[in-house]
Amino acid sequence: MSITPLMPVYARSDVRPVRGEHCHLIGEDGRRYLDFAAGIAVNIFGHSHQGLIGAIQRQAATLMHVSNLYGSPQGEHLAQRLVDLTFADTVFFTNSGAEAVECAIKTARSYHQHVGNDRKFELITFNNAFHGRTLATISASSQEKMHKGFMPLLPGFKYVDFDDLDAVKAAIGPNTAGFLIEPIQGEGGIRTASDAFMQGLRALADEHDLMLVLDEVQCGVARSGTFYAYEQFGIEPDILATAKGIGGGFPLGACLATEKAARGMVVGAHGSTYGGNPLAMAAGEAVLDAIAAEDILANVRDKGAKIVGRLEQFIGNYPELFEEVRGRGLLLGIRLKVEPRGFVAHLRDGHGLLTVSGGDNTIRIVPPLVIDDGHIDEFMDRLSAAAASYPMESAGK
Ligand SMILES: *Cc1c(COP(=O)(O)O)cnc(C)c1O
Repeated sequence: MSITPLMPVYARSDVRPVRGEHCHLIGEDGRRYLDFAAGIAVNIFGHSHQGLIGAIQRQAATLMHVSNLYGSPQGEHLAQRLVDLTFADTVFFTNSGAEAVECAIKTARSYHQHVGNDRKFELITFNNAFHGRTLATISASSQEKMHKGFMPLLPGFKYVDFDDLDAVKAAIGPNTAGFLIEPIQGEGGIRTASDAFMQGLRALADEHDLMLVLDEVQCGVARSGTFYAYEQFGIEPDILATAKGIGGGFPLGACLATEKAARGMVVGAHGSTYGGNPLAMAAGEAVLDAIAAEDILANVRDKGAKIVGRLEQFIGNYPELFEEVRGRGLLLGIRLKVEPRGFVAHLRDGHGLLTVSGGDNTIRIVPPLVIDDGHIDEFMDRLSAAAASYPMESAGK
């Protein structure tokens, strides 16, 4: 047999983390890494946050899981906090980002079909988007590399260019149910929609009675400098998918919706065995507590601005390597002039710095939201050493 016990769907690097210490990871071989990947924008408090650990330990010892057949004081409490913090009136808890997007897609379709508009099932989505790896969420993405081998796709998605309002207008038809968009594309290369585009989508949704669905799985939960990124565009969505940072490392996601948008999500319409279990709720509560208690939003804005300032000065030293700095808060990217995976590997293996490659030749810089100035110094030192030693002749390969 040559297949590995762990299904070989990832090109895993040689880094084999066994322990985390705040913003650093320690490998099986004892090597230390500065973690500016944070489990891909997940570990917003790094790896050893006492509040989060204590909350999970206490809840695990009290009650881990019960069925959604029973009342949920834990779920009601966390849902109410999210309702108070956002546009939403109601929340469905999931275990992952893709499940949160699935619930958002179902909610948008059911808004129309619940009142008999059965033809309105199509969501307009955007080129280079990433929404997860289930069949519905790969169907929602234009990226063919995720479709290969899994045809046929789920019908009901139409792809148009990101930030192109005329293309959206032209794509609206009798089947359109709404729009599904990441206000800041993560995996696609840290591309931020313009204010005019997001406001235009909101106006089109209002005009045509369509659902504006945001995928804030990566850009949400304080990462962009506001609790959710939509706050920066002067709009509110009808439906929003959140995950990644909201559990701080514990598997937790949610679909948030207004009362109007959720009119089809009635008894029996949706479900999840694990979704919203007491252990996940304890993690979510601890994350919200710490965001407020530690003034995380202020830290994200301050450290994000500092990194951008330092990077913008720095990249000019290597014009053959770096193109531009992108993003908001601590959802940052550097667009390279070379293929990014090789540089990400060089940062990691040669200089002990973890980042993530993204689309559009970008490396993603998504550190824990609790970094201090010392971490930024360490980041810049390691990045400078890596740029100085990068063998450009291998960069194209
Ligand atoms: C990561 C991500 C997802 C999928 O989340 P999973 O937890 O991996 O299912 C969906 N949308 C966006 C924008 C993401 O970044």
